Amino acid sequence: MTEKRQFRAIKGTRDILPPDSALWNWFEQTARDVFESYNFREIRPPIFEETDLFARSVGADTDIVGKEMYTFQDRDDSSVSLRPEATASVVRAYIEHGMHTLPGNAKLYYIGPMFRRERPQKGRYRQFYQIGAEVLGQSDAPAIDAEVLEMLLVLFKRAGLALTMLHVNSIGCKECRPKYVELLRQELLEVKDKLGADSQRRIDTNPLRVLDSKLPDEQSLIETLPRIADHLCAECRQHFSELKDELNLRGIAYEENWRLVRGLDYYTRTTFEVTAEGLGSQNAVCGGGRYDGLVELLGGHPTKGIGFAIGSDRAILSIQEGGQAPKLPGLAVFIAWMSAATYPAAVQIARKLRECGVS
Ligand code: AMP
Repeated sequence: MTEKRQFRAIKGTRDILPPDSALWNWFEQTARDVFESYNFREIRPPIFEETDLFARSVGADTDIVGKEMYTFQDRDDSSVSLRPEATASVVRAYIEHGMHTLPGNAKLYYIGPMFRRERPQKGRYRQFYQIGAEVLGQSDAPAIDAEVLEMLLVLFKRAGLALTMLHVNSIGCKECRPKYVELLRQELLEVKDKLGADSQRRIDTNPLRVLDSKLPDEQSLIETLPRIADHLCAECRQHFSELKDELNLRGIAYEENWRLVRGLDYYTRTTFEVTAEGLGSQNAVCGGGRYDGLVELLGGHPTKGIGFAIGSDRAILSIQEGGQAPKLPGLAVFIAWMSAATYPAAVQIARKLRECGVS
C-alpha cells in the first residue's frame, strides 16, 4: 500500500482563496478599465521563453538572471525559463509581429504571474503577480513618461491603496551613464574596505547597484558618493527637467531620489518607483522606467520604450492593510422554499433569475 501523504504548496507560492480572490479580480478589472481609458490594449505573452531572451534584456549580471530564474533544459535540450518579468516578452512580441509598422505608439498592458527564486517573506514570493504597461514607438517625449505615471497613480487612487509616494530619477543614457559609472567605480574602489561583501562584489559587476544598498553601515558613505544628476549629458538633463514640468502640469507629487537605479540593466533616463505605507520592508508596489535601447538590443529597429510593473500581491496587501477595500457585491437574492410542494417553483425561479444574470 502506498504511504498516505499530504501535499503543501511549494515554498514561496500560495493559494489565493475566496473572499480574497474577489478583491484580486476587482483590482485587475480596475486596472483594465483605467488602462483602456488611456487607450492601452492587452497583450498575453507566454509564461516561458528562451533563457537567452532574459539574459540579454534583464542582464546576465543581475540577481534576477544570475540567481533567481527558474531555468530548465527542455526535452530538445534548449534552455527555457519561466518569465521573471514580462517586458522582455512584450518587446520580443513587438519585434516578432512587426508592430513598429502600426500607426502611432504601441500601448500594451499585461496581467499575470512571474517567477523568481527569491527568499520568501511578507510581500515577497517566488510566484507573484504583476500588472504592467509598456509604450513602444518613435517618440521619447517626456509627456509620454508623465502620462504613464499619471495612469499609474489614477489606478492606485481608484483602487484605494494606502498612502503612496512616487520616487523619480534619471539614470542617463548610453552616452553619459558609462562615464558616471566609471567615476562611481573609482570612488568605490577608494573606500572598498568600508563596504560589505555584496557591495564589494558589485564594484566589479554593477557599481550602480551599490546605491541600492539598505545596509545601515553603508548609508553615510553612500551619501558622499557622486550623484548622477551632476553628470547627465545636456539631452538627458533636458529630458528630466521636462519630465518634472509635465508632472507638475498634471498635479502629480513626486520625490527625486538619486539612488533609484533599479535592478534591471535595460533602463535609460527616467526610472521610478512607487512605495506604499504599511508594507514593511517590501514597500515598493511598482517599478519602471524608460528603456530606449532594448528593442534594438533584441534585434529590432531603433525604438523608444517606457513601462512599469505593479506588484499585485503588494498592491492588494496595501489595500487590505491601510487602504480602502471596496465593498464588493454579494448575492442579490436568497430563495427559501417552505415545503416540498414549493420546491419545483423555487428551482425554476432560481434558474430564471440566474439566466437573467441575477445572483
Ligand atoms: P521589478 O520587476 O523588479 O521592477 O518589480 C516591480 C514590482 O514587482 C515591485 O515593485 C514589486 O511590487 C513586485 N515584485 C517584484 N518581485 C516580487 C516578488 N518576489 N514578490 C512579490 N512582488 C514582487
